[in-house]
Amino acid sequence: MARRSKTRTPLTRRDFLKASGTGSGALLAGAVPAIAFSTATVQAQQSWDREADVVVVGSGAAAASAALFAHEAGAQVVMLEKADTYGGTTARSGGAVWAPNNSYMRKKGLADPKADCLRYMARVSYPQIYSAKDAKFGLPDNEYALLEAHYDHAGEAVDGLVQIGVFPGFDFFGVEDDGTPIVTDHFAHLAEDKAPRGRSLLPLRDDGTRGNGGLWALRTKAAVESRNIPILTGHRVSRLLQNGRGEVVGVQATLGGGKTVTVRARKGVIFGSGGFTHDPELCLHYLRGPIFGGCAVPTNEGDFVRMGIDAGAALANMNNAWWNALPLEAALKLRSTTNLGGQPGGDSMITVNRFGRRTGNEKIVWSGKGDAFFWYDPTTATYPNMVQFGIYDQFTRERFGGSSAPIPKPGVDSPFVLSGNTLEELAAAIAQRLASLAAQIGDFTLADTFVAGLKEEIARFNRFAETGKDLDFRRGEGPMDSTARRDGNDKPNPTMYPISDKGPYYAVLIGAGTLDTNGGPKINASAQVLDTRDQPIPGLYGAGNCIGSPAGQGYWGHGGTIGPAATFGRQAALHAASQPVRDWGGSD
Ligand SMILES: Cc1cc2nc3c(=O)[nH]c(=O)nc-3n(C[C@H](O)[C@H](O)[C@H](O)COP(=O)(O)OP(=O)(O)OC[C@H]3O[C@@H](n4cnc5c(N)ncnc54)[C@H](O)[C@@H]3O)c2cc1C
Repeated sequence: MARRSKTRTPLTRRDFLKASGTGSGALLAGAVPAIAFSTATVQAQQSWDREADVVVVGSGAAAASAALFAHEAGAQVVMLEKADTYGGTTARSGGAVWAPNNSYMRKKGLADPKADCLRYMARVSYPQIYSAKDAKFGLPDNEYALLEAHYDHAGEAVDGLVQIGVFPGFDFFGVEDDGTPIVTDHFAHLAEDKAPRGRSLLPLRDDGTRGNGGLWALRTKAAVESRNIPILTGHRVSRLLQNGRGEVVGVQATLGGGKTVTVRARKGVIFGSGGFTHDPELCLHYLRGPIFGGCAVPTNEGDFVRMGIDAGAALANMNNAWWNALPLEAALKLRSTTNLGGQPGGDSMITVNRFGRRTGNEKIVWSGKGDAFFWYDPTTATYPNMVQFGIYDQFTRERFGGSSAPIPKPGVDSPFVLSGNTLEELAAAIAQRLASLAAQIGDFTLADTFVAGLKEEIARFNRFAETGKDLDFRRGEGPMDSTARRDGNDKPNPTMYPISDKGPYYAVLIGAGTLDTNGGPKINASAQVLDTRDQPIPGLYGAGNCIGSPAGQGYWGHGGTIGPAATFGRQAALHAASQPVRDWGGSD
């Protein structure tokens, strides 16, 4: 029986932007794909180029977990990857996994009771609704269920990857001589964190050393290949194919040159296709403030958001991301940049806004960097912190050069570093640079009061450095505040030393960026995508940065992104593999 096609027309606004060349500022610039992301109802005469029980989209941690665990559950699997290479952003990463109550903690005698852990996750994921006395800490049912699923299953995912031979084992992110974990959760200083050490794990190499994201890519690819799971690179999934009952029964992928292929999914399609950092239009309309780029692979353009909307999915967490700070001009050169500026080195440095005022705790862990950029001043109708300035003195330039992106190696001349013998000269150099970037960053200028504000702020910071107490932003108090103490620093706070009263001074422009975004179609605890009435769309699953993250706005600790990617990739795999073969209306 032939079915009515509901194929949609191409995206007119994006095509218009592309054709007209408008929106050329950095907040909108970027490749605008001329692909129509959509759903279509399959026809009885549909022909399939390939088929499998489970079709997995992407090849990062979420997709690899989904593919491997679906295979282990008895499903025949195929992976479709848009890029020409395997591994996604995961391959660029540190490779850590945040897994509460994992078997390594238990072996070490580190308790991580469920109620305490859920309290911690709820507190940092949803601070705006967190309620200590409520049974679900003030969270809606589904948001609570997602946290619970991560607590219950993250350890199983980690152990599962070892059991099926992907990694020889995991170990704590860093350890003391006696094997006790050193590294803490990102919010270990909060009273709600009762098990601050041990949840962050790294995969091990065969020789027992700690691996990273490169190891994730290497080992999961080898595991996928050894199971004869086809990895089709250069395949951009662009359309969901549904049967007459609205069940997802396959996908269409676009190849180079515009050729398309169809792949039937007998049991389910699992997306692990990353976030939308590299779709500037989605960033403009959904994120809670302006970003200039991020370190996701350039192929992470939010394709699943567009397909999900077309399939009737509810969206979740679209205003959040795994935030970071970026040297602005590096991001303007290349939107997909791994040049990060999250925790700048040096104790005699501060970060200020266009008024010369500090914007926050410069040493706080990178994931806490986003919101300071997004402060909107309704009086001036501007984002005064949208571009910030990392300011430091000669000592920090010499001693801490190369310790983080905004401070280049000693002797290395970075085109992004501005200098001046006085603060007035430095301000003039900044003003000139801002003017030269106007086409990319808009009319962002220094306030007339910048130098006066900066001088006051340096004097205030220097007083804090003497006493060791940052009364404005509590720099150095958090366990994750980076310390880069100068030799011979006799000041009480290792993260603060008075900024010199003599030049030269240096400045780097800093803008907001992401590791990737983490909003998209809403899922339930089985990683099924939900529609706008909170009902699962049969056959459609997602995990990792392409879906509304279970973590909400929280970055629980090292591995806070790959952890849930692996957990929910596995959840999706187990659910999809258990499904009956779906009828698509044609004959097999
Ligand atoms: C320097 C750095 C260090 C980091 N360290 C850590 C860390 O230690 N721990 C941690 O938890 N996180 C870390 N992160 C973040 C982490 O890398 C990502 O959040 C995580 O890897 C995302 O995994 P994913 O599977 O969701 O997506 P990705 O790994 O980005 O994979 C998505 C894949 O989907 C593909 N794709 C996109 N659209 C389509 C389509 N339409 N069709 C087919 N394929 C498609 C993409 O090409 C890509 O390969 C770090 C990031 C960076 C850059």
